[in-house]
Amino acid sequence: MSFKLPDLSYDYNALEPYIDARTMEIHHSKHHAAYTANFNKAVEGSSLEGKAIEEILAGVSAGSAAVRNNGGGYYNHVLYWSIMGPGGGGEPSGELLDAINGAFGSFADFKSQFSTAAATRFGSGWAWLVKAADGSLVVSSTPNQDNPLMDLAEVKGTPLLTIDVWEHAYYLNYQNRRPEYIEAFWNVINWEEVASRFK
Ligand code: MN
Repeated sequence: MSFKLPDLSYDYNALEPYIDARTMEIHHSKHHAAYTANFNKAVEGSSLEGKAIEEILAGVSAGSAAVRNNGGGYYNHVLYWSIMGPGGGGEPSGELLDAINGAFGSFADFKSQFSTAAATRFGSGWAWLVKAADGSLVVSSTPNQDNPLMDLAEVKGTPLLTIDVWEHAYYLNYQNRRPEYIEAFWNVINWEEVASRFK
Protein backbone atom coordinates (compact mmCIF):
# COMPACT_ATOMS: atom_id res chain seq x y z
CA MET A 1 0.00 0.00 0.00
CA SER A 2 1.65 3.21 -1.09
CA PHE A 3 -0.86 5.66 0.43
CA LYS A 4 -1.64 5.21 4.09
CA LEU A 5 -4.67 6.21 6.13
CA PRO A 6 -3.18 8.67 8.66
CA ASP A 7 -3.96 8.41 12.34
CA LEU A 8 -5.75 11.45 13.71
CA SER A 9 -3.66 13.59 16.06
CA TYR A 10 -6.66 13.75 18.43
CA ASP A 11 -9.35 11.37 19.71
CA TYR A 12 -12.62 10.77 17.89
CA ASN A 13 -14.48 12.57 20.70
CA ALA A 14 -12.08 15.53 20.80
CA LEU A 15 -14.23 17.78 18.58
CA GLU A 16 -17.43 17.34 20.58
CA PRO A 17 -19.93 18.91 20.89
CA TYR A 18 -19.33 20.38 17.42
CA ILE A 19 -18.57 17.11 15.63
CA ASP A 20 -19.63 13.94 17.44
CA ALA A 21 -17.36 10.95 18.07
CA ARG A 22 -19.49 8.45 16.12
CA THR A 23 -19.42 10.63 13.00
CA MET A 24 -15.66 11.06 13.33
CA GLU A 25 -15.08 7.33 13.81
CA ILE A 26 -17.16 6.25 10.81
CA HIS A 27 -15.85 9.09 8.66
CA HIS A 28 -12.21 8.25 9.35
CA SER A 29 -12.20 4.47 9.83
CA LYS A 30 -14.75 3.65 7.11
CA HIS A 31 -15.10 6.44 4.53
CA HIS A 32 -11.52 7.71 4.47
CA ALA A 33 -10.19 4.16 4.78
CA ALA A 34 -12.23 3.13 1.73
CA TYR A 35 -11.01 6.08 -0.38
CA THR A 36 -7.44 5.21 0.59
CA ALA A 37 -7.80 1.52 -0.25
CA ASN A 38 -9.54 2.21 -3.55
CA PHE A 39 -6.99 4.86 -4.49
CA ASN A 40 -4.17 2.38 -3.92
CA LYS A 41 -6.03 -0.20 -6.02
CA ALA A 42 -6.39 2.31 -8.86
CA VAL A 43 -2.75 3.36 -8.76
CA GLU A 44 -1.01 0.02 -8.23
CA GLY A 45 0.43 -1.38 -11.41
CA SER A 46 -0.32 1.81 -13.35
CA SER A 47 2.01 4.56 -14.59
CA LEU A 48 1.02 6.58 -11.50
CA GLU A 49 2.60 4.15 -9.06
CA GLY A 50 5.31 5.83 -6.97
CA LYS A 51 4.23 9.37 -7.88
CA ALA A 52 3.44 11.98 -5.23
CA ILE A 53 -0.22 12.72 -4.56
CA GLU A 54 0.18 16.33 -5.76
CA GLU A 55 1.59 15.17 -9.08
CA ILE A 56 -1.20 12.64 -9.57
CA LEU A 57 -3.87 15.26 -8.83
CA ALA A 58 -2.23 17.82 -11.15
CA GLY A 59 -2.70 15.40 -14.06
CA VAL A 60 -5.99 13.90 -13.00
CA SER A 61 -7.93 14.94 -16.12
CA ALA A 62 -5.96 12.39 -18.14
CA GLY A 63 -6.65 9.55 -15.70
CA SER A 64 -9.55 7.34 -14.66
CA ALA A 65 -12.62 8.27 -12.63
CA ALA A 66 -11.32 5.92 -9.93
CA VAL A 67 -8.12 7.95 -9.55
CA ARG A 68 -10.02 11.27 -9.58
CA ASN A 69 -12.65 10.21 -7.03
CA ASN A 70 -10.48 8.18 -4.68
CA GLY A 71 -7.31 10.26 -5.01
CA GLY A 72 -9.36 13.34 -4.21
CA GLY A 73 -11.08 11.50 -1.37
CA TYR A 74 -7.73 10.42 0.03
CA TYR A 75 -6.14 13.90 -0.13
CA ASN A 76 -9.16 15.96 0.94
CA HIS A 77 -9.71 14.01 4.14
CA VAL A 78 -6.03 14.12 5.13
CA LEU A 79 -6.27 17.90 4.89
CA TYR A 80 -9.65 18.09 6.64
CA TRP A 81 -8.41 16.15 9.72
CA SER A 82 -5.26 18.27 9.90
CA ILE A 83 -6.95 21.67 9.90
CA MET A 84 -9.28 20.71 12.77
CA GLY A 85 -8.45 20.07 16.40
CA PRO A 86 -9.59 20.41 19.99
CA GLY A 87 -9.25 23.91 21.37
CA GLY A 88 -9.61 25.33 17.87
CA GLY A 89 -11.74 28.16 16.63
CA GLY A 90 -11.35 31.88 17.12
CA GLU A 91 -9.55 33.84 14.46
CA PRO A 92 -6.16 33.57 12.79
CA SER A 93 -3.49 36.18 13.48
CA GLY A 94 -0.38 37.64 11.87
CA GLU A 95 0.29 37.37 8.15
CA LEU A 96 -2.64 35.03 7.50
CA LEU A 97 -5.12 37.44 9.09
CA ASP A 98 -3.58 40.32 7.12
CA ALA A 99 -3.98 38.35 3.89
CA ILE A 100 -7.60 37.44 4.73
CA ASN A 101 -8.40 41.08 5.53
CA GLY A 102 -6.75 42.16 2.29
CA ALA A 103 -8.63 39.64 0.16
CA PHE A 104 -12.07 39.69 1.76
CA GLY A 105 -12.25 42.99 3.68
CA SER A 106 -12.51 41.42 7.13
CA PHE A 107 -12.49 38.06 8.87
CA ALA A 108 -16.29 38.27 9.19
CA ASP A 109 -16.62 38.78 5.43
CA PHE A 110 -14.31 35.84 4.76
CA LYS A 111 -16.29 33.65 7.16
CA SER A 112 -19.51 34.61 5.45
CA GLN A 113 -18.14 33.89 1.95
CA PHE A 114 -16.65 30.52 2.96
CA SER A 115 -19.82 29.46 4.80
CA THR A 116 -21.97 30.43 1.82
CA ALA A 117 -19.73 28.43 -0.53
CA ALA A 118 -20.12 25.41 1.77
CA ALA A 119 -23.88 25.81 2.23
CA THR A 120 -24.67 26.33 -1.44
CA ARG A 121 -22.54 23.53 -2.88
CA PHE A 122 -25.31 21.40 -4.42
CA GLY A 123 -25.11 17.73 -3.44
CA SER A 124 -21.78 16.45 -2.15
CA GLY A 125 -18.52 18.33 -2.17
CA TRP A 126 -16.12 20.64 -0.38
CA ALA A 127 -15.52 24.36 0.22
CA TRP A 128 -12.01 25.79 0.19
CA LEU A 129 -9.76 28.68 1.09
CA VAL A 130 -7.17 28.59 -1.67
CA LYS A 131 -3.84 30.37 -2.13
CA ALA A 132 -3.64 30.98 -5.86
CA ALA A 133 -0.41 30.89 -7.87
CA ASP A 134 -0.12 34.71 -7.67
CA GLY A 135 -0.32 34.53 -3.84
CA SER A 136 -3.88 35.85 -3.58
CA LEU A 137 -6.53 34.18 -1.39
CA VAL A 138 -9.76 32.90 -2.93
CA VAL A 139 -12.82 31.00 -1.65
CA SER A 140 -14.19 28.24 -3.88
CA SER A 141 -16.10 24.99 -3.77
CA THR A 142 -15.80 21.72 -5.68
CA PRO A 143 -18.21 18.84 -6.39
CA ASN A 144 -17.71 15.25 -5.24
CA GLN A 145 -14.04 14.68 -4.27
CA ASP A 146 -12.52 17.25 -6.62
CA ASN A 147 -10.05 19.77 -5.18
CA PRO A 148 -8.01 22.87 -6.17
CA LEU A 149 -4.88 20.80 -6.90
CA MET A 150 -6.64 19.11 -9.83
CA ASP A 151 -5.93 20.44 -13.32
CA LEU A 152 -9.67 20.36 -14.04
CA ALA A 153 -10.65 22.54 -11.04
CA GLU A 154 -12.30 25.91 -11.80
CA VAL A 155 -10.19 27.57 -9.06
CA LYS A 156 -6.67 26.17 -8.83
CA GLY A 157 -4.05 26.68 -6.15
CA THR A 158 -2.86 25.46 -2.76
CA PRO A 159 -5.71 24.53 -0.42
CA LEU A 160 -5.27 26.12 3.03
CA LEU A 161 -8.60 25.32 4.68
CA THR A 162 -11.45 23.01 3.76
CA ILE A 163 -14.79 21.71 4.97
CA ASP A 164 -16.37 18.43 3.90
CA VAL A 165 -20.05 18.97 3.10
CA TRP A 166 -20.89 15.39 2.13
CA GLU A 167 -23.84 14.26 4.26
CA HIS A 168 -21.62 11.58 5.87
CA ALA A 169 -19.69 14.45 7.53
CA TYR A 170 -22.68 15.68 9.55
CA TYR A 171 -25.89 13.69 9.05
CA LEU A 172 -25.80 11.60 12.27
CA ASN A 173 -25.78 14.72 14.44
CA TYR A 174 -27.24 17.44 12.24
CA GLN A 175 -29.45 15.46 9.80
CA ASN A 176 -30.41 17.85 6.98
CA ARG A 177 -29.21 20.96 8.83
CA ARG A 178 -25.97 21.56 6.91
CA PRO A 179 -25.75 25.25 7.91
CA GLU A 180 -25.61 24.27 11.62
CA TYR A 181 -22.69 21.93 10.94
CA ILE A 182 -20.93 24.68 8.99
CA GLU A 183 -21.42 27.15 11.86
CA ALA A 184 -20.10 24.55 14.35
CA PHE A 185 -17.04 23.89 12.17
CA TRP A 186 -15.68 27.39 12.95
CA ASN A 187 -15.17 26.23 16.57
CA VAL A 188 -12.78 23.43 15.64
CA ILE A 189 -10.51 25.08 13.05
CA ASN A 190 -6.81 24.74 13.88
CA TRP A 191 -5.63 28.16 12.66
CA GLU A 192 -2.00 27.39 13.48
CA GLU A 193 -2.06 24.59 10.92
CA VAL A 194 -3.80 26.80 8.35
CA ALA A 195 -1.21 29.55 8.96
CA SER A 196 1.67 27.10 8.49
CA ARG A 197 0.18 26.00 5.16
CA PHE A 198 -0.11 29.67 4.14
CA LYS A 199 3.66 30.10 4.63
MN1 MN B 1 -15.94 12.80 3.86
